[in-house]
Amino acid sequence: MTGPTPRPNVAAIPAYVPGKPPTVRPGMTSYKLSSNENPYPPLPGVVEAAHRAVEVMNRYPDMGNSALYDALAARLGVPVTDLAAATGSVALIYQLLHAFCEPGDEVVHAWRSFEAYPIAITSAAATSVAVPVTADGRHDIDAMVDAITPRTRCVMVCTPNNPTGPSVTQAELDGLLARVPSDVLVVVDEAYVEFVRMDDAVDGLATYRDHPNVVLFRTFSKAYGLAGFRVGYAVAHEPVAAALRAVSLPFGVSGVAQAAAIASLDAEAALLERVDALVAERDRVQAGLAEAGWDVPSSQGNFVWFPLGERTPDFAVAADELGIVVRPFGAEGARVSIGEVEANDRLLELARAFPH
Ligand SMILES: *Cc1c(COP(=O)(O)O)cnc(C)c1O
Repeated sequence: MTGPTPRPNVAAIPAYVPGKPPTVRPGMTSYKLSSNENPYPPLPGVVEAAHRAVEVMNRYPDMGNSALYDALAARLGVPVTDLAAATGSVALIYQLLHAFCEPGDEVVHAWRSFEAYPIAITSAAATSVAVPVTADGRHDIDAMVDAITPRTRCVMVCTPNNPTGPSVTQAELDGLLARVPSDVLVVVDEAYVEFVRMDDAVDGLATYRDHPNVVLFRTFSKAYGLAGFRVGYAVAHEPVAAALRAVSLPFGVSGVAQAAAIASLDAEAALLERVDALVAERDRVQAGLAEAGWDVPSSQGNFVWFPLGERTPDFAVAADELGIVVRPFGAEGARVSIGEVEANDRLLELARAFPH
């Protein structure tokens, strides 16, 4: 007798390794620097809006996310038809591949990059084409273009790149777009866009306006501090946005998440001040690391990457002993989120003491 069998790709899906919670140590505050979350507690207006939505939890949420789309359309200057919201931008990655890939179609992405990419690609029975990042953690745009074949349906551009930190420039993105066939989607994953401070930064909205094959993914999880509520959105020309909406889980984004996201857009000024403070901390940490003799990729996100190779697990253990939890990636390196000032000080203390 044989039992039910999932599609063959299901057994090949890599496991998602979530950032560990902090180890509890008596007499010591521990900090979670393992998931690139916003360390600030939610703003008062956001909490109240969420509370109001809690009062009506017996009702389904607005399936059309209409108030959220209106708020985003006004904020971004795009038509509501060009938006698709989902339970985090991770869900949008799944939806996009589900809507556009036949089994065996190829998706080109940098590696190491966001660990959800190969998971979502394999879930869709598509083929992950991983193009190594350069020694300084950047997307190798030429190699990514060279990796495109007639089977390629999508190219993922993660900017800033999680976990290595650098962003692509607008010139690099334009160079890529000029060489990608017009029927290949180009995802610009802007999960950390609010933290970018550089010359020739990507203007995602202008790029989407000029290119019907560009899809922007953004999230309320990082700068906006709503990781626990699961809400992200895509911006793309209508045919692509409509396909994303068509394959979405009905009633996926909860009423609480919709209300909190709208309130966060209303509280944007206060939120972006906090982002400025985190950017200042990121720059302080990077300067401290350089002073301590570390050569790490220049990060545009709310995290830094330590390319430690075999010493990665030791670094994670040493961090844990200092009361900070980092995110190790095998024998490649460790990503450390920018957190509270005290947490960042401990990271610098670790970096000064750890052999490098
Ligand atoms: C965190 C992250 C996301 C978004 O995650 P959601 O919480 O699902 O919105 C998307 N892309 C990258 C690169 C990320 O790091």
